[in-house]
Order: sequence, then structure tokens, then C-alpha cells
Amino acid sequence: VSPVLEKAPAIPSAYTRAIITAPNTIVMEEVPLPPLEPGQVLVRVTAAALCTWEQRTFAGIDTYSYPLVGGHENSGVIAAIGPGVELAAKVGDQVALAGLKRCGQCYSCRRGVLNLCDNARSKRVPNVPWGPGGFGEYVVAEAYQVYTCGPVATPLEAALTEPTSCVIHDMKRHPVRNGDVVVIVGAGIMGLLHLVLAKRTPSFIIVSEPEATRREKAAELGADAFIDPANEDYVARVNELTAGRGANVTYITIGIPKAIENAVAAAAKRGVVSCYASVNPRGQTITVDPNAFHHREVVLSGSIAQDPDDFLAAADIIGRREIDLRPVISTVFPLSKLADAFAVAGKKDRYRVLVQPDAEYDARRGDTSTAAR
Ligand SMILES: [Zn+2]
Ligand SMILES: [Zn+2]
Repeated sequence: VSPVLEKAPAIPSAYTRAIITAPNTIVMEEVPLPPLEPGQVLVRVTAAALCTWEQRTFAGIDTYSYPLVGGHENSGVIAAIGPGVELAAKVGDQVALAGLKRCGQCYSCRRGVLNLCDNARSKRVPNVPWGPGGFGEYVVAEAYQVYTCGPVATPLEAALTEPTSCVIHDMKRHPVRNGDVVVIVGAGIMGLLHLVLAKRTPSFIIVSEPEATRREKAAELGADAFIDPANEDYVARVNELTAGRGANVTYITIGIPKAIENAVAAAAKRGVVSCYASVNPRGQTITVDPNAFHHREVVLSGSIAQDPDDFLAAADIIGRREIDLRPVISTVFPLSKLADAFAVAGKKDRYRVLVQPDAEYDARRGDTSTAAR
């Protein structure tokens, strides 16, 4: 044990992590815990959520990431602090981890465009497992990636800091103002997180979603009106619901080109449309009336990832439970059952599915105060 680990209680010399090695294939492996380098923090993982990137990799839709140690939406507890770390947090504190790398040296970082660092992609060695590592018992993080998340939040809620921070980033760039008509396209986890945050500003919120169960969930969380885009004309319905004014802000949380075209057509004068979701496969195009931008001053924009201030805001409000994320936590599995977790994560009645290291999972199972079900 190195001197920097001296104060930390019971840190094992090895830990278990889950690696996605091929489509539908997960290998659990035990690896030694590396010594902390200056500026690093050892975090014992308490929960990790399954995001679409890991789902696509497990399903074999994205094949460029194998062998992947996924898990970039996670919470944990500080287990040890390396030399030269200036964090206010101490061993034992609950934290959320921002997986994004920011070099601080590139053009984008120096312009303050911190979510789009030119060197954000990890350097990879072929056939060596890589990735953010949340699907494991421990993560070695850089201090700047570690954010305190208050003890009011359960580990399951704290693990949703990363996706919440991405939504906060979108809503910082494209804010809701008092009295706005907001349209949220898609009521999966990302649409619902937009809804929870939009509800903080007095506004009229319309959710467009073809699945009835998801519309019901959005209704539970306070949406004011709905569009069923499979059976209704989106543009006509927005106009009907707004007396012809259109939508002031539209957040598109699904990657469907037609949804972007519709949102531009249904935007109010000076309305803003944000493409929050990526469109897959890449290379598709949209057709919009260019006069929407001239005659109606519509803004078509987008959002990805988060800046440090967005992550800080997410960790603070979740840590104090100023927003309640328990309704979007659908199911929890032990880490050793990660494949089972992937099998249910794509279902229409699930929002976020999480895994917890087995010891953590076993410790929580008797606790009925969490929303896990
Ligand atoms: Zn994610
Ligand atoms: Zn950079």
C-alpha cells in the first residue's frame, strides 16, 4: 500500500470490473488496483447507469469500442486521495464522476468550449480494455472529474448526475423563460429529465411521444399536453395547442430528422429548436424552409455533453434532492448481472436501468426508501 492510501480504510489490492468484449458478451475480470498518481482520486463505485452508447455497444450496433469497460454515469464514495489533490471533498464523501476528459491545452478548451475538448477521446491500445470504467468496483479519476453530491441523494440518484448535467447544458444554451410554450420531443429518460427541469419555470409543456406508457409517465411528472406523433399531425397540433403562436423552445431528445423539420415548422417567432439527440446512422439530411430563419427569426441549434458548471449544478441540485429523480429510476441489477440489465434497458416502460457492485446491491436490497423497483 502506497503512503497516499494509508488513511483509507480497507482498500483491496484487486477489484472486479465488467468488460464488453463482443456483441452480447460480457466478461467479469479481476484486475489489480493501480497506485494513485498525483492529482488522482480513487472512487469506490456505488452505482452506474446504462446509457445508449453502452447499450448500442452491447447489442453490436456500435462495434468500434470493444473491449469496453463502460459506465460513464456513476456515483461513488471517495476511497483514497492522491498527492497534490486540492478537492474540498474527503474520504467517505459521496461523489458523482464526470467522465469527459478536458486537456486544458487545446483550442476548444482555451476558448472555454470545455464540452468539446479536441483531445477528449482517450488514447486506445488495441485489445486493451478501455473506457470510463463505471461498470467496476473502483474507478481511478482525475480530481477535476470528481464532484461532491450531497448525502440526501441515494447512490442511484447520484449516478444520474451526468445525464442531468447534459440536460442542464442544453437548457443553459436554450433556456425556458416564464410563460413559454415548451415542446419536448420524446419521453425517454432524456425527455423526462428535460421535463423535470422545465417544470422549474412557469411554462406550458407539451410532450410529443408515440408510446402511451411514456406519455403517461410524462403526465405523472407534470406535462400539460401531449402529441401522439404516430397518429396526429405534429405541426397542426402544436398550432392548435398554442392558438397558432407555435413553440418558444423545442428540445428534440430523439434522433429523427423529420422531428427536426417539424419542430422548425412549428416554432414560434424567435422560437428556438435544440437538437439534443444525435441522429443515427450518421449522414442523414433534413429539409427546412430557409425563410423560417429570416421571416420568423427561428434558431436551430443543438447541445452535447456538459461544461464543468453544468456538472456542478447537477451534482448540487441532485445532492439536495431539489429535483426528484426517483421516478425515472426503473430497475437495478447487481454488476455481475450486467447482461440482464442490458436486456431490459431498451424496453419502452424503462427509463434508467442501473447496476451496483454486488456488495453495494446486496446492502441496499432491504432498503425500501429508494425508488428501485
Ligand atoms: Zn450517458
Ligand atoms: Zn482540450
